[in-house]
Amino acid sequence: MPSHFSCTMCGRCCRDLRLPLSLAEAAGWLRDGGETQLLCDAIPWPVEPAADDRLAAYKFRRSFPAMSGTLPLRVIVTVVAAFDGPCPHLQADLRCGAYDRRPRVCRIYPAEINPFIELQPAAKLCPPEAWDERHPVLEVAGRYADPSLVATIEAFREADIHDVGAKRKLCDVLGVRTAALANEGFVVIAPGREAMANAIAAVMREDEVVGEDANPASWILISNRRSTRDTLASVDAEARAPDALPDLHEYLGFHAASGE
Ligand code: SF4
Ligand code: SF4
Repeated sequence: MPSHFSCTMCGRCCRDLRLPLSLAEAAGWLRDGGETQLLCDAIPWPVEPAADDRLAAYKFRRSFPAMSGTLPLRVIVTVVAAFDGPCPHLQADLRCGAYDRRPRVCRIYPAEINPFIELQPAAKLCPPEAWDERHPVLEVAGRYADPSLVATIEAFREADIHDVGAKRKLCDVLGVRTAALANEGFVVIAPGREAMANAIAAVMREDEVVGEDANPASWILISNRRSTRDTLASVDAEARAPDALPDLHEYLGFHAASGE
């Protein structure tokens, strides 16, 4: 079944958000006076997956290696624009005040960036009338119809992979060494506009390309579930509850805390 779509300009996708950004976009967002955060999660990676595991290959390219105790990890760092209420660029008439320089993720919505996630109109913020069958075709069987949309999604994914090495360096510069377990939540770090702008400028100057590190850094895994921490401890990982997080860090869990 094709998905038909036309934006109604309702403005719902411009409120109360964490928008994933490339590092170059984050630098621009900060220059415009916006706030950014880092979201960190980590995937246990005890053995290398099969060569034909496409999902694992996708995760691998978006992540850098680390250790938690003796457990190998892949850490994914997402830089986001963060705002409560309306986006600072949202105008009273619901138009974007930064239209020509808006982040790629704004240009892509409601399409999916992750190639392994199927477009689900019901899961999107767009109202039902945006999905009327009389509108142009957005997607058929997982393929987006508009070549410029496809190119923007590709550019987002390429920047995401290109930035991995610089994000690892960004964590070094900002002293970030904690991550949530993937699929359980994120550790959110909000160092402040000036610290983020300086750190991003420093790591982008170096333009590091990620390699497989012979001495990956030691990270602490954060979980609000005792059962998760116990499981991680049983494989000699370093696991802590969210109250162990340093200043400017918080835990954003997908599940209610349990067994505290
Ligand atoms: S940058 Fe523009 S399109 Fe993106 S969230 Fe803000 S107002 Fe909306
Ligand atoms: S939520 Fe959907 S319909 Fe509303 S402005 Fe955003 S993209 Fe357009």
